[in-house]
Amino acid sequence: MANLITVVGTGYVGLTTGACLAHLGHEVRCVDIDADKVARLEKGEIPIFEAGLAELVREGLEADRLSFTTDTVTAVQGADLVFLCVPTPQGGDGAADLSFVRTAAVTIGPHLASGAIVVNKSTVPVGSAQIVAEVIGRGDVSVVSNPEFLREGTAVSDFLKPDRVVVGCDDQAAAVRLAEAYEDLGAPVLVTDAASAEMIKYASNAFLATKVSYVNAIAALCEAVGADVTDVTLGMGYDKRIGSQFLRPGPGWGGSCFPKDSQALVKIADDNGVAFPLLESAIATNEAQFDRMVAKIADHVGGSVDGRTIAVWGLTFKALTDDLRDSPAIAIIERLVAAGATVQAYDPTVTESPLAGIDVTADPYAACDGAAVLALLTEWDEFRWLDFDRVGGLLERRVVVDGRNLLDVSALRRKGFVVDGIGRPHGAR
Ligand code: NAD
Repeated sequence: MANLITVVGTGYVGLTTGACLAHLGHEVRCVDIDADKVARLEKGEIPIFEAGLAELVREGLEADRLSFTTDTVTAVQGADLVFLCVPTPQGGDGAADLSFVRTAAVTIGPHLASGAIVVNKSTVPVGSAQIVAEVIGRGDVSVVSNPEFLREGTAVSDFLKPDRVVVGCDDQAAAVRLAEAYEDLGAPVLVTDAASAEMIKYASNAFLATKVSYVNAIAALCEAVGADVTDVTLGMGYDKRIGSQFLRPGPGWGGSCFPKDSQALVKIADDNGVAFPLLESAIATNEAQFDRMVAKIADHVGGSVDGRTIAVWGLTFKALTDDLRDSPAIAIIERLVAAGATVQAYDPTVTESPLAGIDVTADPYAACDGAAVLALLTEWDEFRWLDFDRVGGLLERRVVVDGRNLLDVSALRRKGFVVDGIGRPHGAR
């Protein structure tokens, strides 16, 4: 059954949610307080880099099922479902900052239709559905927790083919109505209480972050004992109990979700008197991974990067997105710059320097020009297919610190490169 849906917040999650729900046949109004963003979206211009999203937005606009506005009050009037997709950044004490959610709830509360369902899609701590219900203060409106699990880079396909849809609400009728909006996805729907739904999101993200920290620690150990983490994780991943996903070592995890959600879960545990040293250690292991990357780079330039120019390929927190929020590449570059290095960086989606001390170049070769060594920090596939003879000619030394184990080590070695990956002996295949 088609619904009239309002999506509040038109960022990575809100825009994907709005465009995909319109694609499923619902009539969707997307609201954002950012007037420039809305103006661009009304013209069919997509402010973020996300595969397949532009096509869906255009389809929705042409079919008149998708619209964009800054007028929240008008947008929520008469809506069956109102999705909150506003930011929940990390607050000063590590807890999620709920101020955007509260502000949105205050704004929409008086204007909701009787019987409307407010859907918390933002990642929010346990108890937030209750807080939103109290802020709205309407007995005739239900609040449902419906955490989003999409990954940037594959947001559209993740939304349209989710592993599961989680719906958390004590009002079963509201839960069923929301589940029906997703029924064309054919995904398993888990209906539970709001607190469990909120917990599922944090538990999932913190688990994935912990898995990567674990494999990064194993990678460090592999380097120490002369094992190759690529084979180690391949051997582990065949075990169905472990699985091969999220078993790739790298420069550390980051992005707009893992760091803040892991910190928020630590805070939730702390607030409730539950010790969670495992997760605290996963976070500390991740910070240490950034330091290990800097040490690796420094190793190839005589132990200190002070006064040296370092070439960096990749700035975003992962490939296929333009999102720089809490990117490991940025964390590593900050450390390099603090240690006295100059950084020349290239990323296919970044044109402006995200912080002082980084010279963002127009192409990957310019980043290497005159640099001491090259560090690859984001797994953009195009980096594999570059002209490494040219790269070698531009660098002071033919050294690549491959923070993503992306490059063909034997091909590069034949060209005289030293390739220092993660968890791989220097002599690795
Ligand atoms: P974002 O920063 O990309 O977008 C948020 C949007 O909300 C911005 O455009 C902002 O202008 C708008 N906004 C803020 N307050 C508003 C208000 N009162 N009314 C209307 N618009 C308002 O954020 P995001 O990455 O889409 O994340 C949103 C939520 O979803 C967060 O809680 C996040 O943790 C969660 N989440 C994010 C991802 C992800 O991969 N980015 C995945 C799953 C869940």
